[in-house]
Amino acid sequence: MEDTVLVVNCGSSSLKLALFNNQHRKLLSALAERLGQNDAFAHIDGQEGTIPLDAGAGHDQALDTLVTAFRDLGLMTTAPSAIGHRVVHGGETFHEAVLIDGDVLKAIESCAGLAPLHNPVNLSGIRATLAQFPGVPQTAVFDTAFHQTLPRRAFLYALPEAWYRDWGVRRYGFHGTSHAFMAAETARLLGKTPATTSVISAHLGNGCSITAIRDGISVDTSMGLTPLEGLVMGTRSGDVDPGLFDFLSGKGFAADEVHRILNQESGLLGLSGQTNDMRSLCELADHGHEPSQTAIDVFCFRLARYIGAMMASLSHLDALVFTGGIGENSARIRAETINHLKLMGFELSPDLNNHHGEFSDGRIESPDSRFPVLVIPTNEELVIAREASRLAGSVAPA
Ligand code: ADP
Repeated sequence: MEDTVLVVNCGSSSLKLALFNNQHRKLLSALAERLGQNDAFAHIDGQEGTIPLDAGAGHDQALDTLVTAFRDLGLMTTAPSAIGHRVVHGGETFHEAVLIDGDVLKAIESCAGLAPLHNPVNLSGIRATLAQFPGVPQTAVFDTAFHQTLPRRAFLYALPEAWYRDWGVRRYGFHGTSHAFMAAETARLLGKTPATTSVISAHLGNGCSITAIRDGISVDTSMGLTPLEGLVMGTRSGDVDPGLFDFLSGKGFAADEVHRILNQESGLLGLSGQTNDMRSLCELADHGHEPSQTAIDVFCFRLARYIGAMMASLSHLDALVFTGGIGENSARIRAETINHLKLMGFELSPDLNNHHGEFSDGRIESPDSRFPVLVIPTNEELVIAREASRLAGSVAPA
C-alpha cells in the first residue's frame, strides 16, 4: 500500500481536503462549504452530488463526515502516513513548518487574537484529524512563516513602539506558502538557485498580496497585521487612510461595522456594486458597465504602484511573477498593470501574454523588457504535502 499525505485547509466557513501519493500526485480532493450555517454541505471531486451536513455543522464534523465517506467509497483504505495543515497565523513564534505537539497547539492558540476568524478553525481541523488518525505525524504550515525574514524597517508600523512590544502590532504578511513556491519555481524556470534569485511575486486571487523576495528571502510584503492591508481584493479594501475611521465614527459607524464593510463589502465588489469575481467584472466591463471598468482600473493601478514599491527592497530583479486565479488567467489584468510600468522598463509581449498557457517556460515579456515577467500556477496544497512528508520522515518510527 503506497504512503499518502492528507492536506487539510480550514477556511473561516469552508474545509478543503486533498490526498497526495508519495510522488506528490493529487489522488483526491473534497470541499465542505457554508460551515456553521443551516445549509452546510460537502462534495468529493469526481463523485455525483453533494453530501448534506447537519445544520450548523462545524469543521470537525465536516472532516469526520468526509473521512468516513472516503473510507466507505474505498478511496482511503489506510490511514495517511502524514498530515499537513494550513495554519493562517504563526505570529513571531513560527519561522517555518513544524510537527504538531502540545506546545505547538498552545502557541497556535496564543496567535488566535491576531487571526480570530482563522486560527480557531485551523485548530479545530487539527484536533479532528488527531482524533481520526492518532499516531500519524501532523505538520502545521503557516501563511506567515515565509515573511518572518522581513527586516525591522519593513515590518514595523510608525506607531507607538509599545504597541509592537506589548501586543505584537506589526506587519506579518500572508500567502507565504504561495510566495515561497513562486520563489522556488521562478529559480527553477530561470535555471538558477533560489538563494540567488530575486523575485516580485504577485498572488492575485480573492485575496491579493505582493512580496519582494531577495535571494530567496521575503523582504517586503503588502499584507500587514491582518490580510486586509495592501492591494485591492475581491471584497477587501486593501490600503485606506487611517483617518477614515474617525470620519466614519462621526457618521455613527461602530468599529465592528467598519471592519465588516472593509472586509466583506469593499474591494472589487464595493467599487463595482456588482461582484467580487474578476472574470465577471471583465465581462461586465466589456458590455459597457462603467463601475466594473473603474474597479478593474483601481485594481491594476494599485497593483502597479505596489510593484514599484517592492523595487525599494531589491538590489536586482530576476523576474516579476503573476499567480493566483486572476494572475494566472487574466491577460487583460496583467497587460493593464504592466502598462503603468513602462518607465521602469517592464514590457509584455501581447502574443505571449495572451497565449502563455501554450508555452512551458511561463515567460510573457517582450524582448525589449528590462525584466522577465512570468506566469506560474500556484500550488499551496503541494507545498503543504511536501512539508508534511519531509517532517514526517524525520520522525523515528514507533
Ligand atoms: P482564492 O483566493 O479563493 O483561491 P482564486 O485564486 O481561485 O481564489 O482566484 C479567484 C479569482 O480569479 C476570481 O476573481 C476569478 O474571477 C478570477 N479568475 C479566474 N479565471 C479568470 C479569468 N479567465 N479572467 C479573469 N479572472 C479570472
